Amino acid sequence: MRYLGIEPVKPRVGIFDFSGCEGCQLQLLNKEESLGAFLSALEIVHFREGSSEASDDYDIAFIDGCVTREDEVVRLKKIRSIAKLVVAMGSCASFGGVLRHRNYIDLDAANREVYGDKPKETGKTRAIHEVVKVDVTIPGCPVSKTQVERIVQHLVLGVPFHDVVYPVCVECKQKFNTCMFEKGTLCLGPITRGGCGAPCPTGGLGCWGCRGATVDPNLKEFKDLALKRGFSEAEIDERLAFFGGFEGITCASI
Ligand code: SF4
Ligand code: SF4
Ligand code: SF4
Repeated sequence: MRYLGIEPVKPRVGIFDFSGCEGCQLQLLNKEESLGAFLSALEIVHFREGSSEASDDYDIAFIDGCVTREDEVVRLKKIRSIAKLVVAMGSCASFGGVLRHRNYIDLDAANREVYGDKPKETGKTRAIHEVVKVDVTIPGCPVSKTQVERIVQHLVLGVPFHDVVYPVCVECKQKFNTCMFEKGTLCLGPITRGGCGAPCPTGGLGCWGCRGATVDPNLKEFKDLALKRGFSEAEIDERLAFFGGFEGITCASI
């Protein structure tokens, strides 16, 4: 697409799936009102869910999912050796997401229960940055397509971008929502990284922290608030553990 007679440079992009539900890739094909502009800003050369092309010549690699098998380690390292820029896309890629729970259970027992005498090869969950260097992280379960589009705009135009440093509450209040705490519902918005547009509180659910901890969260104040509002330590800990973005943080540790 030419603008003012100038042909923009289109980065060659590969989108790769690892362990996860592939919902983040699917997000890239959603939001039809901007899909045409999004696809025309890039040259997508590898995208199993969206194209039959499969090239090993790309500048940017978007990684969807986390690492749970040794063959994924090999594949990820190869991708890293090719791409100039690696983007961890979604909570699984950023910090393990819901798959992080696998690290705290008996995986062999779970494998036997699900697959009987034909167990699958599987191991501990590793986020992408635990295997290779990651340049950009966009958490979310699923990832926010709007945020991916914003980052792509910056990459295409060569303009530095700044990560969101405020919590979900900021975007929630911009939507004039009544706070979920006022409705008797637990919400991790005060300590969770913003950028999603607060869809959960807007839709009547508390935030479950799928984007992980915000910058410098006031955990003590949050814990005191939640306890004062009648939520138990077990409820708060369950929520903190759900997406893996608050790993190591529990009521006992705050
Ligand atoms: S972050 Fe969520 S939507 Fe994305 S791959 Fe993982 S489980 Fe699926
Ligand atoms: S509903 Fe949640 S995100 Fe919204 S203001 Fe209340 S605590 Fe913050
Ligand atoms: S409100 Fe919370 S759980 Fe919902 S998308 Fe945003 S960060 Fe994720």
